[in-house]
Amino acid sequence: MTGNIYTSRILILNFGSQYSQLLVRRVRELGVYCELRAWDITEMQIRDFAPHGIILSGGPESTIKSNSPRASEYIFQAGVPVLGICYGMQIITVQLGGQVNKTTNLREFGYAQVAVITNSPLVQNIQDDISSNGQPLLDVWMSHNDNVTSIPHDFITVASTKTCKFAIVANEIKRFYGVQFHPEVTHTKQGQHIIKRFVLDICCCQALWTPTQIKINAIARIREQVGDERVILGLSGGVDSSVTAMLLHYAIGDHLTCVFVDNGLLRFDEANQVLEMFRNHFGLNIVYVPSENRFLSALAGIKDPEVKRKIIGRVFIKIFEEQAQRLKSDIQWLAQGTIYPDIIESAVSTTSKAHMIKSHHNVGGLPKKLKMRLIEPLKELFKDEVRKIGLELGLPYDILYRHPFPGPGLGVRVLGEVKKEYCDLLRRADLIFIEELHKANLYYKVSQAFAVFIPISSVGIMGDSRKYQPVISLRAVETIDFMTAQWAHLPYELLESVSNRIINEIDGISRVVYDISGKPPATIEWE
Ligand code: GLN
Repeated sequence: MTGNIYTSRILILNFGSQYSQLLVRRVRELGVYCELRAWDITEMQIRDFAPHGIILSGGPESTIKSNSPRASEYIFQAGVPVLGICYGMQIITVQLGGQVNKTTNLREFGYAQVAVITNSPLVQNIQDDISSNGQPLLDVWMSHNDNVTSIPHDFITVASTKTCKFAIVANEIKRFYGVQFHPEVTHTKQGQHIIKRFVLDICCCQALWTPTQIKINAIARIREQVGDERVILGLSGGVDSSVTAMLLHYAIGDHLTCVFVDNGLLRFDEANQVLEMFRNHFGLNIVYVPSENRFLSALAGIKDPEVKRKIIGRVFIKIFEEQAQRLKSDIQWLAQGTIYPDIIESAVSTTSKAHMIKSHHNVGGLPKKLKMRLIEPLKELFKDEVRKIGLELGLPYDILYRHPFPGPGLGVRVLGEVKKEYCDLLRRADLIFIEELHKANLYYKVSQAFAVFIPISSVGIMGDSRKYQPVISLRAVETIDFMTAQWAHLPYELLESVSNRIINEIDGISRVVYDISGKPPATIEWE
C-alpha cells in the first residue's frame, strides 16, 4: 500500500524504456499523481494501487520472443482505461489476440508523420497539420523494429503512417489505446496534449497533484504514521534534508530532532546559516555537532579521492549514530530525504516483484542498526517537486535552487590531502566566484559553479616580492541532466573580476585558472 490519499492516480508499468521516467514526469506535470512500477506487478498490487488508468511503457524487448514480458491479464479486466506506448501497444495487441511481426523494412526510427483516419477522443482536435484530403496530421517520434500486423478483432485503426498501418489503435468501448510512437518525448509535438487527453479526459483524473496539495497530504501522512512518537533526521542544509525537516516540523513540531553534523567541509559560513535559519528563524530542534577536527584528523595524510569519500561517509555515520544512540530511548523513527529518482531505478524488474528501496547514500544501514523505523516523506517526489514544496513551506528560493553540492563537500574540492588552511582558502575563493556570478546575473544560468583548490604552488610576484603559492581553478558547467555537461562560456570580464578579487583579497593564492573541460571525459567535480 502506498498510503497515498490521492484519489486520481495513474499506474505506469515499466517495460524498460529509456523514456519511462520522462513518462512519469509528463503525467505529474498535468497535476496527476502516478507511479512507475515494474511490469511484473501482481494483480493484488494493482488492486491495492487502485489506478484510474494504466499506461504501459515502451521497452527494448520483442513480443515475438516467447519469454518476453507481458502485463498481468488483470489490467484488461480492471475496468480502467489502458494506454500502451510502443512495446506497450505491441503487448496489448498480442495479449488481446492481434499479431506483431518483425518487419525489417518497416522499422522506423525518428520522425514520422501520422494521419488520423478515424475520429477518437484520444486525438480529436489535436493536429500539427492537415492533409490535402482533410486528414489531421501529427508529427511524431518513432523507435521500433517490430510492427503490429493485425489488431485484436474489437479494435479499430485510428491513425497510420505511410509505413506503419497501425500507428494508433483503439477499443473505444473498453477505452484501450495503443500508440506506436512515443508521446512522452518532445519530438512528438502534440505528445503532452495526447497524454493529457488520456489522463484527464479519458481516465477522468483530477489535477490535484499540486505543490500545496502535496504538502498538505505529506504532512497528514507523517502525522498518521508517526502519531505522537519522535523522529530524528540528519539535516545537512541541502534541498532534500531541508524540505524533509520542514515537512516534519509542520507535522509534528518539537517531536522532531535534527542532527546537524558540521564536518568542516561546508561552504563559507554555511553552518551558521543553517543554524540561523532552522533554529532561530523556523524554531526547529537542532543538535549541532561541530566535528571539523574529527573529519580532518580522519582525513590526515589521505590523498586518494575514493578513500577520502569513504572516510567522510564513515565518520558521518559514526557521529550520527553516537547522537542517535544518545537520544534513542526517546526516538522511534529515523527520517531520510530519499527522493523518487533514488528508488525509481529499481522499478524495472524481471525477477523481484517488489518496489525495492535503495538505501540513502549517507545513512545506509542505519535504521537496522539503530532499530528505528524509517520515514521518507519525499520518496514519491522528483527534485523539482521537492523544490516547489520547499517554497510552499517557506524555505528561501536561493536555498532550494542552489547548485548541487557534493556530500563529501570540500573534501573532494581540495585536491589530494585535505587540510583546514586549504579549506579556508577555498571557501573564500568559492564565495567570491559565486558572488560575482550572482552580480552578473549568471548564477542560475549555469548549472553548477564552484572553485577547486590545487595544492601545487606556482610562482607569482606581488608588490615586488616573490610568491610561491597554490592555485585556484574555477569550474562552471551547463547541463540538463548532469550526465553530460559543457563548460560554461562565461564572459571574460566576469572571469577577470573573479580572478582579480581572489588574488587581491585572499592572501595565499596567486594564480587563478578556468577549467575548460567537458563531461565526458572530465567529471564535473574534480575528485
Ligand atoms: N522493442 C520493441 C520494438 O522494437 C518496442 C520498442 C519501443 O518500445 N520503443 O518494436
